[in-house]
Amino acid sequence: MSLPYKIVVGLEVHVQLLTKSKLFCGCSTRFGAPPNSQVCPVCLGMPGVLPVMNRTAFELSVRAALALNCQIASFTKWDRKNYYYPDLPKNYQISQYDLPFSSEGWLEINAAADPKKEYKPKRIGIIRAHLEEDAGKNLHDESGRGGDSKIDLNRTGTPLLEIVSKPEINSPEEAKAYLEELRLMLREIGVSDCEMQEGSLRCDANVNIHVAHEGGTAATPLVEVKNLNSFGSVGRAIAHEAERQYGEFQKDPKNYRFDRIPKTTAGWDVERGVTVVQRHKEEAADYRYFPEPDLVPVVVSKAELDLARKAMGELPAAQRKRLQEAPYSLPAYDAGVLTAKGRKMVAYYEEVTAAVGDGKQVSNRLSDLVMGTLNERGEEIDQFPVTARRFAEFLKATSAIPQQDRRDVFKYMLEHGSDPASAMTALGVKTDFDETALRSAVKDAIAANPQAVDDFKKGKTAAANRIKGHVMKANKGAPNDVVQRLLDEELAKA
Ligand SMILES: [Zn+2]
Repeated sequence: MSLPYKIVVGLEVHVQLLTKSKLFCGCSTRFGAPPNSQVCPVCLGMPGVLPVMNRTAFELSVRAALALNCQIASFTKWDRKNYYYPDLPKNYQISQYDLPFSSEGWLEINAAADPKKEYKPKRIGIIRAHLEEDAGKNLHDESGRGGDSKIDLNRTGTPLLEIVSKPEINSPEEAKAYLEELRLMLREIGVSDCEMQEGSLRCDANVNIHVAHEGGTAATPLVEVKNLNSFGSVGRAIAHEAERQYGEFQKDPKNYRFDRIPKTTAGWDVERGVTVVQRHKEEAADYRYFPEPDLVPVVVSKAELDLARKAMGELPAAQRKRLQEAPYSLPAYDAGVLTAKGRKMVAYYEEVTAAVGDGKQVSNRLSDLVMGTLNERGEEIDQFPVTARRFAEFLKATSAIPQQDRRDVFKYMLEHGSDPASAMTALGVKTDFDETALRSAVKDAIAANPQAVDDFKKGKTAAANRIKGHVMKANKGAPNDVVQRLLDEELAKA
């Protein structure tokens, strides 16, 4: 597991904002429309047209930047990034260069070695977040018969938020955790749907490694792995690229260095699972940035910041923390699982806990019964037929019965839409056991299993479970703790 080098990664993430129209014109941003049906002279870059900024796009960006703990500039401007490419009809992209609207933030991730078992917070610094317009899409004939390439400009001018992290990500797992947290947060605050398949979240990874060498630390040249289209690809590409760089370094430790070789870009070959180094990266100077003359700079008022802060709502990190405190007092892992399922799941959990009282027990039952069922049914919690109120009734009614019986009751409720009491009646699960009757059932079981009693007396404590099994089988729904107590008492006398 331990690597002979340290992985150093900074991620550049582009997310499409959830606006109805594009950044500088009124064209729709709807995904999946016929090619070139959502274009106008402005986003096609016709001569003489003038862009007008979409204020909603700017507001969503500010909301995201605040959620990333960024400083928001009170004055920000637009710049032209000049380059020629078929999917960029204007020959420049309107972006932000030296005065981005936000900078210097951070995002907290779970950097635990086993995130299923624990929560270990780590802050990943954010260098900046800025707003820019997207380019179009080249459609190549992939039939292999050498057909034409086509261009769809529907996406041209769609608002993109670019979020650049500091190189503080040190493993493929941390990269995945960063992306998951970012996606969760941006979805929850309504900034982006972050659908990777639809291209509304795209990721580039800047990767190099630090190797202990001749008493010091050697850094390898930076490689930017472009257009990673799934979280899995991000992790695998980072691991592969780090290993590849280590190989290069071992061949030529003197020259394969960060300060000797300029940054290059690479693609990720999903099929072969390898990074393919492509070209030397353009420097900022190659793009001939200059201020966009057709757009006025943007001034951000305190009132706008307050509005954006309000629109943000409770962030996942705060929610996770709150769930670990009274009245819930959940372990960090449970709080993380609930939070990752979104605000609606947390609201459901809170409503059930308010009725039932035991926050940890509710969390266990939700993971055990509800979350898996939701996955199977492909449903969200707000579509789930068992409402929070009914789930609370169910937990109260079944608190003392064995786990398998509880599962059966829950399944019955789901299938028949019934309340817990009628489900239990239908299944013949009883909860009103009389202690005297249970005690005699325990005595009978002890009398009927002399071998188990003998084993128990010889110190094989597990033998008691065999006796208990007989009691439980004959008394479906009997409260586990009561049977255990009676058994302990009767075994002591036996
Ligand atoms: Zn347009």
